[in-house]
Amino acid sequence: MPHIDTLKHQGMRHRMVQALRAKGITDENVLRAMNEVPRHFFMDSALDNHAYDDRALPINCDQTISHPSTVAFQSQLLELKPGMKVLEIGTGSGYQTAVLCKMGARVFSIERQKGLFDKTKRLLAEQHYRAQCFLGDGYKGLTEIDYSPYDRIIITCGAPYIPQPLVDQLKVGGYMVIPVGDEHQKMQRLLKTEGEPVIETFGDFRFVPMLGGRQF
Ligand code: SAH
Repeated sequence: MPHIDTLKHQGMRHRMVQALRAKGITDENVLRAMNEVPRHFFMDSALDNHAYDDRALPINCDQTISHPSTVAFQSQLLELKPGMKVLEIGTGSGYQTAVLCKMGARVFSIERQKGLFDKTKRLLAEQHYRAQCFLGDGYKGLTEIDYSPYDRIIITCGAPYIPQPLVDQLKVGGYMVIPVGDEHQKMQRLLKTEGEPVIETFGDFRFVPMLGGRQF
């Protein structure tokens, strides 16, 4: 059944954005983008009534779409400006990808699971989000085509450590936002400098794990 963005959905989305403000999200570009992107398009229509709750929900292949508050928090930490090149690891449902596109970024997104990659690539194109999607292993960054260095890198799965190839593909002066840890993660923001990177640590999160290799 095709998704429709009804007034009811728009109302739920507006309340979601108010809740994000109440939780301390202040970046107006993040709030505007999340008010515009229909989150319910990125999940099974059976979950429509919960699409705007602050919950992670199941998507295909045992994966989850991140909480709206997590998407907002990571997007805000990026301090994104329109036109920036962003590399995303973990396309998943494509919701975070769509939010980044709405914020004006040029998005390159990598997913390791073929089933999700195929479905989400098609969905994003149908909805006219101009992200470039790749099937691959995010631990290596984007190797198929070299668009590096990226202004920003965002990882949306729990990484046991910060992968060096991603640091290599980040611009000096650029940020990487990455949840680091095994079962639980701390959100980290890495600023690449000419010398040692500067790392800030934020709150606790729980993501599905970042796994190695591709899965066909
Ligand atoms: N931002 C997505 C999050 C999906 S969950 C959303 O809100 O829908 C995280 C995703 O990361 C999953 O789809 C998982 O398959 C993918 N992933 C895990 N390890 C990866 C890796 N090494 N490279 C690329 N994608 C990976």
